[in-house]
Amino acid sequence: MHGKSSIDYKAIQLKVGLEVHQQLATETKLFCACPPFSGEDNAFQKIEDEEELARRFPFQIQRILRPATSELGEMDQAARFESRREIRVRYLANAWNSCLVEADEEPPHPINSEAVDTALIFSLTLSSRISDEIHVMRKIVVDGSNTSGFQRTAVVALGGSLVYDAGKSSVAVQSVSVEEDAARAINSKSKDERIYDSPNEEQRVYALDRLGTPLVEVALAPIEGGTPERVASAAGALGRLMRSTGRVARGLGTIRQDLNVSVMNGSVIEVKGVQRLDQIEKVVEYEAARQKFFFDLAELVKSKVGSELLIDSSDVTELFTNTGSRVLKSAIVKSKQHRVFAVGVRSFSGLIGMENEFHARLGKELGGIARTYGIGGIFHSDELPNYGITAEEVESVKKQLGMSESDAFVLVAGESSSASKTVDALIERLRHVVKGVPAETRGATEEGETTFLRPRPGAARMYPETDIPLIKVPKSRLDKLKAEIPEPWEVVVEKFSKQYDLPKQLAEPLLDSDRKNVFVETATFTKLPDRYVASVLLDTLQSLSREGVAIDLISDFALKNIFTALDSGKFAKEATPELIRTVAKNPDLSIEQALSKAGLGSISKEQLVRVVEDAIRENASLVKEKGQASQSTIMGKVMQKVRGKADGKLVNETVKEILTGYIEKVRN
Ligand SMILES: [Zn+2]
Repeated sequence: MHGKSSIDYKAIQLKVGLEVHQQLATETKLFCACPPFSGEDNAFQKIEDEEELARRFPFQIQRILRPATSELGEMDQAARFESRREIRVRYLANAWNSCLVEADEEPPHPINSEAVDTALIFSLTLSSRISDEIHVMRKIVVDGSNTSGFQRTAVVALGGSLVYDAGKSSVAVQSVSVEEDAARAINSKSKDERIYDSPNEEQRVYALDRLGTPLVEVALAPIEGGTPERVASAAGALGRLMRSTGRVARGLGTIRQDLNVSVMNGSVIEVKGVQRLDQIEKVVEYEAARQKFFFDLAELVKSKVGSELLIDSSDVTELFTNTGSRVLKSAIVKSKQHRVFAVGVRSFSGLIGMENEFHARLGKELGGIARTYGIGGIFHSDELPNYGITAEEVESVKKQLGMSESDAFVLVAGESSSASKTVDALIERLRHVVKGVPAETRGATEEGETTFLRPRPGAARMYPETDIPLIKVPKSRLDKLKAEIPEPWEVVVEKFSKQYDLPKQLAEPLLDSDRKNVFVETATFTKLPDRYVASVLLDTLQSLSREGVAIDLISDFALKNIFTALDSGKFAKEATPELIRTVAKNPDLSIEQALSKAGLGSISKEQLVRVVEDAIRENASLVKEKGQASQSTIMGKVMQKVRGKADGKLVNETVKEILTGYIEKVRN
């Protein structure tokens, strides 16, 4: 869990550069006529069982990934890292959202000019210098996420600035580019299955539906002297600017932020794939504290141990043949090819398990590296004896390594060649401890932490894309697009709140919300009060989410259906949260099915009258005694029976009317 960090960001010279990738809401993909991957599809990224996949993607393409060397014959360290194992890639496709272009069997079509226009509008809004000619380039990708082995990208403009923090701050823009999105990674098997399948081989699965979807990338210069809040504020302002053009895709996963974080002028760490704004702040906070921790650790190690670490490794499999540790035992019994290795570091006791306030520690880094080699995890001496490993076993490892009390070791268990490659990688990382933070590409977790993905690649290598002619940007085109420069955020909020009669406190979060379009359509096509619709989309969804309801699984379409059903009297307002909850749990049900599943659905006026009459009859003596004062009791009894099936106001009126009539009748 995150607390507020005690770090002085100025003192550690926190620098954060931001790259925002925004999917566009164009008619077609960037280089073909297929429809782009939409925001709504992004919400359903997690339905991944094999049968479902085969149904959705009838076509499969298999490729084997081979690392490319540059023309100078050298191989990037990130490419070398990816080539440790043979990587088999399975691309999944269907005919309605990918074609021969995505399969790399046909040259790209001319660039989508709607996407270029959007990038030009962003550039104009950010006062960037727009190039007269746009050249499409190929950027090498090493992870298999593109069938061609490269991503097509084109710089549209350079320079400019982004104003944020309600006009009080600004940050320089480095570039605005238009590019194609990568294929969508799919985890069709659990990690553990994959590990023992084929230790020297890895299989990756990608869906081609997202490949080629147009993105605009805006890269900002490092926000120096910034804090995590300021970085989030800049990202928020850029997101709003893009959304106010009305030309971007909305929904989970349609905007992705990469962060380049460094402290104390150390290596720049690239953190990929931050999807939500509230995650940015946490990630920057975590990453700054993590890097600071490793700089402090470097100093500590240099003073305590020295600048050269003494590291040994040894095969200790025999020591664990009768171990009580389930993890080690299951690794060893697989076959003779499965081994346990120990890596020993002199005078290192206590330093692998040492952690900061966010639980960043060297042990966790080593575990992250091991996982990229298909090794489930590691054990280190600071946490032992534990996990079924006994004090005697710890002693025997130390004895074999010739180690004393003040030394430390790490255990790696797995298939022999993966495990020994892991040992090499761990030794390399341990040697780096005295230098601070190694340059890495890391991934962001949901909780706002970062984990090791691969070493940081060198400068991206680019080649001209010879299949695409250069694109001229005449002044006339820019003049026409100037009319589409969005108004400042404050003006947009003001206008929106007037148009829909919403207070600013509802208008602003609604404009920021991914459900904005649900609101606009519902407000336009139903008689429901705008404020009510806004409060369901903001407050009700948020409180359901806090309850643990997976509101991301509810499509915009389903929400619109719920409002339409409410508008035509199929259920009562009171039942809206319950119905949304039911739809979230059963996304395949129609509204009618969901209503009956939730035991909802509206009752007729006649049925309501009967319920009220029954309640009065059952409480006749109370009504006789208290007269009109019994109304709230009767109301309560009736609501128990009709909650969610009849509007509260209507129930109130009906009770009042029938009760008054009954009392008069009894009196006469
Ligand atoms: Zn296509």
